[in-house]
Amino acid sequence: MTDSRPMNVLVVGGGIAGIVLAILLERDGHRVTIVERAPEIMPVGGGITLTMNGIGMLRRLGLMDDLEPYLHKIKRINIDAIRLGTLSSFMLDDEKSSREVYSVLRSDLHSRLLAHLRMTRMVKGTSVHLYSQSPEGVSVTFSDGRNEWFDIVAGCDGINSATRASMFGEAGRSFAGYASWRFLAKSDGVYDPSLITEVWGIGKRFGIVPLPGGLVHCFAATNCRDSCGENENMDVTAFKAMFRGFGSASDYFVEQVSHSSQLMYNGLEDIRLPAWYSGRIVLVGDAAHGMTPNLTQGASMALEDAYVLAMALRNGSSVEAAFSWYFQCRRRRVLAIQKKSWWLGKVAQIASPWLCRLRDRCWKRIPDRWLQGDLEKLLVETTDAFYSPAKA
Ligand SMILES: Cc1cc2nc3c(=O)[nH]c(=O)nc-3n(C[C@H](O)[C@H](O)[C@H](O)COP(=O)(O)OP(=O)(O)OC[C@H]3O[C@@H](n4cnc5c(N)ncnc54)[C@H](O)[C@@H]3O)c2cc1C
Repeated sequence: MTDSRPMNVLVVGGGIAGIVLAILLERDGHRVTIVERAPEIMPVGGGITLTMNGIGMLRRLGLMDDLEPYLHKIKRINIDAIRLGTLSSFMLDDEKSSREVYSVLRSDLHSRLLAHLRMTRMVKGTSVHLYSQSPEGVSVTFSDGRNEWFDIVAGCDGINSATRASMFGEAGRSFAGYASWRFLAKSDGVYDPSLITEVWGIGKRFGIVPLPGGLVHCFAATNCRDSCGENENMDVTAFKAMFRGFGSASDYFVEQVSHSSQLMYNGLEDIRLPAWYSGRIVLVGDAAHGMTPNLTQGASMALEDAYVLAMALRNGSSVEAAFSWYFQCRRRRVLAIQKKSWWLGKVAQIASPWLCRLRDRCWKRIPDRWLQGDLEKLLVETTDAFYSPAKA
């Protein structure tokens, strides 16, 4: 920045985006405060899959070494159909680093990332009540009544971001038409620990992701009318009835659900905004561009965002130029991934039995290398040259 004095930065939200952004900004000498609504930083959702671009970014940022022991290598990803068996199989185990895919417990990912924070002030159990901007900075009133002044604010407060709502209201939100439950189960040796499987049914699907420590992370999705309607408080018996019959391993894991508190529910949606900043407030990660999880890209996109935003603040001639550069640089890539993920979700959730039969037969005929090549082009680790506004 031409004015290179350290800035006083507020990061709202201590998820993946917020923690990594804080790490990068404190490395650049800025004074960073993270304000997190939860009384403790609680990673939500059991396990997470990290693809090659996210892994590449963790390496680039020097965050990989102590995370490595907590990662679980995935060697193959299958898409199956209940009636036709395996439709596609993506091999990842050919020593090509560009195909690295790992699963990790969210709790391990968070604690390893948090361990990299040195100077950041962490304020837990608090959220932001009010922002009031001027061209010089942002006056922030917290939920505990305190008022502080910051040079910039980064809204990293997730898909239901209050920061985003304060800037754009409910604009840009689209419900995907389906919702999901996630839960952890014990593998007990009944499932291949190197394989991710997603099984497509009729208007619903079931997925299994192996995790370290003999655990599996399961996800189950079904079509529904709205994001937090009839399914949010589904009882365990109804859940089990809905997701029985996706294969013997799935049945084994579904049977391990004994209480609804084991299930984590999400109505799935996409956020597409005309801008990710307004004045001195900028959005990062899900707050900027929440997406459906079909390509497992949310965490990787949050990492890439944090990297580009920190770089933009380092090199921009002003805060406004940096935010604009960040948005220009990121929006096209993020939109391409959002669109592909949305489309894949629609295909996976087809509800008409005859269309499902057609889908399964057609999909089975597509050579695996086509689908794999298409995905790799999108998810390949990006280079420094990619992160330039000229590319945007
Ligand atoms: C079903 C499902 C499966 C997924 N699977 C994958 C996967 O396999 N791989 C992958 O890469 N991504 C996956 N994702 C997406 C991934 O979880 C998110 O993209 C990622 O967590 C985004 O990180 P974030 O930091 O932007 O937001 P979050 O992780 O949501 O963090 C936001 C933080 O902000 C805090 N917060 C919220 N509101 C406030 C407030 N008002 N004030 C202060 N703090 C606040 C929250 O408590 C939280 O700590 C999945 C998502 C879903 C729904």
